[in-house]
Amino acid sequence: MAKQDDAMDAMIQGQVNSRGCTCMTGVLKPAQSTLKTVVCKDCGKKFKTNMDTEYCVKCRKNH
Ligand SMILES: [Zn+2]
Repeated sequence: MAKQDDAMDAMIQGQVNSRGCTCMTGVLKPAQSTLKTVVCKDCGKKFKTNMDTEYCVKCRKNH
């Protein structure tokens, strides 16, 4: 009885571990983002962003 439980635990552990590994690698994104310097079309302020925008954070809120 006890031996069967141990085997079951080991099997479940193995499944959880392998699933966790593939999950982790699938979620990971490249460390380098596409950070670029943009001049805000509204206030002319230079700022860095990785988003596709032409306005700074403040002006985007006003829009
Ligand atoms: Zn702006």
